[in-house]
Amino acid sequence: MKKDGHTHTRFSHHGSQEPLDLYLERAIELGFTDYVVTEHAPLPEAFLATYTGPRSQDDDSAMLASELQAYKAEVARVKAKYGDQIRIHQGFEVDYLPGYEAETKAFLQENADWIDEIVLSVHFLENDSGLIGPIDYDPDQLKRFFPMELQDPQALFNKYLTMVQQSIDFDTGLSTPVRIGHITLIRKFQKYFDFPDFDLENQQKITAILTSILEKGYELDVNAAGLRKEFCGESYPDAKILRQAVALQVPMIYGSDAHTVADLGLSYDELAASVHLKS
Ligand SMILES: [Zn+2]
Ligand SMILES: [Zn+2]
Repeated sequence: MKKDGHTHTRFSHHGSQEPLDLYLERAIELGFTDYVVTEHAPLPEAFLATYTGPRSQDDDSAMLASELQAYKAEVARVKAKYGDQIRIHQGFEVDYLPGYEAETKAFLQENADWIDEIVLSVHFLENDSGLIGPIDYDPDQLKRFFPMELQDPQALFNKYLTMVQQSIDFDTGLSTPVRIGHITLIRKFQKYFDFPDFDLENQQKITAILTSILEKGYELDVNAAGLRKEFCGESYPDAKILRQAVALQVPMIYGSDAHTVADLGLSYDELAASVHLKS
């Protein structure tokens, strides 16, 4: 099995407008046997109503609720077209948002029959003033929302890792596989801010995260995106944490997190060589 467990489509408005057909054709060309379409699920209405971060029709990361049926139809269309060449799995990348667990769970329940797999991720954190900010948008937004936390990056890491731990503890109510997304996304702009390595306390949080993933029967997203980000230069999580996950026998699935066709399959070979990808 060669699987890409984390991919996007034109329904994430920050991605490319390339048709899903081109993604599938590229994945087939690269020898992938399994492909999970995991577009960002619509964010809860109540969350959007209070969110003050950057968003517009063009830069919203998540699909709109009004686009849900079109997304499903698009996945059905490519399944019919390419299903004899590659196994296409239906999924979402779902945001874990503290305080919105009920809405998130309701969405998952409503779509449970459709969902094959999900990636559960943290992209937003609450700052010291109670505002919710995106941590992966750009360095300016990270600075705008988290100036206090940036003065002590370990506190920022701690905040993110705490949310990742909470996401694992969140009861999705699904019986389908759950993969925990890019657990070290908070390091996306690490070169820009000259972030230090994780301190001992944060390393312990990561160990707890890996152990919880294992205990829950979940999987770890071995996410290649950071390797191609100018200010990151490492996978989420990095090679050292991946070695720890291997030692703990945490099930791992490669995720290109492709937002354009050109991202597909990047760094697959080096990541597959360093971890035992689940087959
Ligand atoms: Zn993500
Ligand atoms: Zn993603």
